[in-house]
Amino acid sequence: MKVLRGIAASPGVAVGEVMVLASEGYRIPRRLAPRAAAENELARLAHAVDAAAQEMIAHRDAVTRELGKQYGAIFSAHELMLRDPQLHAEVERLVREKRYTAEYAVSRTLRRYAKVLQSMEGSLAERTNDIYDIEKSLLRHLLGRNREDVANLTQPVIVLSTNLTPSETAGLHRELVRGFATELGGMGGHTSIVAEALEIPAVVGVGRFLAQVSGGEKIIIDGHEGLVILRPDRETLARYEDEAERRRQHAVQLRPFWNEPAVTADGVRIRVCANIEFPEEVKACRVRGADGVGLYRTEFLYLASSTEPTEEDQFQAYRRVAEAMHGAPVIIRTLDLGADKIPSAHAAEEKNPFLGMRSIRLSLRHPEMFCVQLRAILRASAYGDIRMMFPLVCKLEEWREARRMVSHVIEELEAGQIPCNRQIPIGMMVETPSAVVMLDRFCDEVDFISIGTNDLIQYTLAVDRSNSDVADLYHPADPAVLRLLNMTVQAAQRRNTPVSVCGQIAGPHYLMLLLGLGLREVSVAPSAIPEMKRVCSSLSLDACQTAARAALEMDDARQIETFLKDELTRLAPQLAPNAP
Ligand code: PEP
Ligand code: MG
Repeated sequence: MKVLRGIAASPGVAVGEVMVLASEGYRIPRRLAPRAAAENELARLAHAVDAAAQEMIAHRDAVTRELGKQYGAIFSAHELMLRDPQLHAEVERLVREKRYTAEYAVSRTLRRYAKVLQSMEGSLAERTNDIYDIEKSLLRHLLGRNREDVANLTQPVIVLSTNLTPSETAGLHRELVRGFATELGGMGGHTSIVAEALEIPAVVGVGRFLAQVSGGEKIIIDGHEGLVILRPDRETLARYEDEAERRRQHAVQLRPFWNEPAVTADGVRIRVCANIEFPEEVKACRVRGADGVGLYRTEFLYLASSTEPTEEDQFQAYRRVAEAMHGAPVIIRTLDLGADKIPSAHAAEEKNPFLGMRSIRLSLRHPEMFCVQLRAILRASAYGDIRMMFPLVCKLEEWREARRMVSHVIEELEAGQIPCNRQIPIGMMVETPSAVVMLDRFCDEVDFISIGTNDLIQYTLAVDRSNSDVADLYHPADPAVLRLLNMTVQAAQRRNTPVSVCGQIAGPHYLMLLLGLGLREVSVAPSAIPEMKRVCSSLSLDACQTAARAALEMDDARQIETFLKDELTRLAPQLAPNAP
């Protein structure tokens, strides 16, 4: 058994069999071949080795021509490794003695080599990638067209991968992918957000570990604690079964809150809305009693297909959400595409993408694309309480230009006698320090604001939200973040501008802080709604305010977080994770 620690990205526990995705996204199968098939397997292997070797020679020649011999030599070394007699002897032994298929024997052997190299110092460790390259190349030739990819699953698995983009995560099969873990990734990344939306337990940022696992092995993903447990022993499995039972009971305790509004212990109504990425999530919002959709991340419409969604595609999706919410407000956020959400193949090369062409900047740079979305939102506004929100607004000029474009599209629709709500409320996300500093001015012009803490933390602390190397610096309780939250709420209250929070700052202790700072509306993943309502019912606003005031006096993120957790346990012991 081996326990690895990563970043808890999406809550829940999953126990099952491993499926390792190579970076090309196909499965390394564990299949036993019939004993009589050994010769056939070895013949397939020989064929694949020849084909892979030809490919490497072609690479060597091309690279030598372009860059010189010393670079071409990298591929000569690959070819040598590919032909290594010791490697062949080991693979052959596994095929003959263990009856492994050629694919599985190759993968096992090369991963063992990679593991040994990885444990060594310096340049030898760097050769690990060469081994992965050889593995990939051999598997590609062995599997040919028949390779099993994650889209064609037939049985439940736990997916392990170096990385998953948000759109790859969105494509995971909801029933058959029980959980996943990745080597890369950080706490606030969109991969985590999508995993939570799909209610798939996930751990990201585990660091290099794929060399230590093979397809078919047993594994536990603990998305609460951020643990990945390889080959768990019997005692651990039993412990996790007990834990699953405890969580089932917790879910039963939350059941009565599904159909109740959120009200604090001293009788103040709190609005708890839902963040969604896909129209299908509306059902989860409704059954858990969401007060509305506080954030509809429309970029997933763009990520889900290889072509841009048409006005009609978008209109249908937005109308469907609005109608299914039966008159409750639905805040549609315009396209928030950026480097963290676009799979790298499609992204334009940018040296510093988080500070680059993303979100409202991208929409304003491409008015033809933006107007298509605005038309779709406005047309859908005739079918429910739709509101519109712009992401990552940093400057007043951006807000004003986007707002002007909305007015222009309204006029166009009216000229064509196409119904829309010309009074549609329009707001902005507060996600950067510049928006907070200028908020009094923004509040004179916007209908509402919503604080995006995921990005606000990133841009305040200058920490990439999806980079595991700096994940320890990305902290929602950082005193600088608390001050900005406080400034935002104060500015909004002074101008009577409705304010909510839609970032993933959703732990019960953070809800206590937000209520204490003066917020009366939050928007969270649909799965978190009942817990938020329960926390509200256990706390009085007075107590929340006292806790928030004390937290604002502190100057250390970890001290603040510990304080908030302790305070919550003191005020509402029944909420503690192990309470009876
Ligand atoms: C945020 O930044 O907090 C937010 C809600 O937007 P996203 O996570 O989609 O960037
Ligand atoms: Mg954001």
